[in-house]
Amino acid sequence: MIRPLIAGNWKMHKTIPEAVKLATRIRESAAACPDRDVAIAPSFTALRPTAEVLRGSNVRLCAQNVHPAPQGAFTGEVSAPMLADAGCQYVIVGHSERRTLFGETDELVRAKIQASLQSSLMPIFCVGESLAEREDGRTFDVLERQLKGGLNNFQAADIRHLVVAYEPVWAIGTGKTATPDQAQEVHVFIRRMMSRTFGTDLGDSLTILYGGSVNPKNIDILMACEDINGVLVGGASLEAESFGRIVGFQKL
Ligand code: PEP
Repeated sequence: MIRPLIAGNWKMHKTIPEAVKLATRIRESAAACPDRDVAIAPSFTALRPTAEVLRGSNVRLCAQNVHPAPQGAFTGEVSAPMLADAGCQYVIVGHSERRTLFGETDELVRAKIQASLQSSLMPIFCVGESLAEREDGRTFDVLERQLKGGLNNFQAADIRHLVVAYEPVWAIGTGKTATPDQAQEVHVFIRRMMSRTFGTDLGDSLTILYGGSVNPKNIDILMACEDINGVLVGGASLEAESFGRIVGFQKL
């Protein structure tokens, strides 16, 4: 049994007081669900105040990005040791918005994963195809390239705390969710590929999240899929009520 993980990506939303208020409500919803892990990813400025709110709770702090170097002349960037110091346990890496809007390559994503693991941060490694790639029948090729590129030269022991998030780009922020069958098919592909590359122990225990317009109405049916071990939620994580319902998903 893989412990479910429900993660909220707040993107560039919430001031510090807003983040503190929302985190306080999420802490309450999560306390009622001790059989699952919950993580929230505020913006950098709100990380530390949110860490204070979450202290002693079962909600973990997640960063939205990381620079591969531990320190240096990289104006505007934040390193993995800094994130760990701020109280983060997870970090989102390779999100499609970073890949498309900020030109992140598979090679850079790999460097970010390595830096995160070196600071004992658990990377939530995002992969996913665009609509054009899906329509061209290239979904699995794209995923294979992203997984191989992002995890090139790692050993199974290095990545035992890695989480993979399948986020079809066409489903992010669009209100279009992959059907449970579409998501399950890709999750099985990812698990098999990870088993082939890193061994069945790793593949069988790998947490694979689905992300893309998850909301209170579709969460239960998505979580009923055998290979969906949790979700990465954008828009619906910005309100305490909707995220609380997602955290408290019902087992069908
Ligand atoms: C995301 O950005 O990771 C995401 C899944 O967003 P949304 O839930 O809004 O589609």
